[in-house]
Amino acid sequence: MVTGRHGGVSSGAYATLNLGYATADEEGRVAANRDIVRDAMDIDPEQLMVAWLTHGTEVAVFRQDNPAGWPDRHEAVRPASARTARAFRADAAISDVPGLRFLLTFADCVPLLFVDPVREVCGAAHAGWRGTAAGMASVVVSALRREFGSRPEDIHAAIGPSIGPCCYEVGEDVPASFHRHGLAPVMQGKRLDLWESTVRQLDRAGVKTIEVAGLCTRCNTDRFFSHRGEGGVTGRFALVAGLKA
Ligand SMILES: [Zn+2]
Repeated sequence: MVTGRHGGVSSGAYATLNLGYATADEEGRVAANRDIVRDAMDIDPEQLMVAWLTHGTEVAVFRQDNPAGWPDRHEAVRPASARTARAFRADAAISDVPGLRFLLTFADCVPLLFVDPVREVCGAAHAGWRGTAAGMASVVVSALRREFGSRPEDIHAAIGPSIGPCCYEVGEDVPASFHRHGLAPVMQGKRLDLWESTVRQLDRAGVKTIEVAGLCTRCNTDRFFSHRGEGGVTGRFALVAGLKA
């Protein structure tokens, strides 16, 4: 599920459902907003894993047969006011654990969701231009193959609301970063198309079922937080994903 920006307790630039601690919003309000989302989705606090984003392509792996091995760095990211139980330091997570949910935060970067109904595993990822240039989507597909034996043709992938090709003008360092990773960015003049760049990576990785929300966050600041659209002072919405218990 992807949250919008309504239904929370934050105000001003963070109005109202800001889910990101990496903002100047009051921690207590972010904590209250996270509780609102958790309660609405009926998620046990111990079952919610929050991503501490690094803009890298590391994939955290959560396996039923190895709960002791789950990445866990909650002490560093949890304000005392938050009931959120645990966090992991990575921009992507994959899991075969029923009931476990992942919360990743966004304000223009690309939410990526993966489900393999055959192996009953899922994945969630955060990819800005850095992650996309480093092939985040195909990195997650590779991790699902390696860790859980997923076949790419069984994987369904979805690309959530994020800054669109209509709005994302970038400097020359951005396409150069793609090229350094052996990837070709899809450009529309000076504007980067994160969605189509990601679709091509998934296609090359063998994923057949790809859904694109096609919702630009910058064009829709009434519904979503947008870093570009709001001059960098804004909240974060979330992708909350996981296998049913
Ligand atoms: Zn736009």
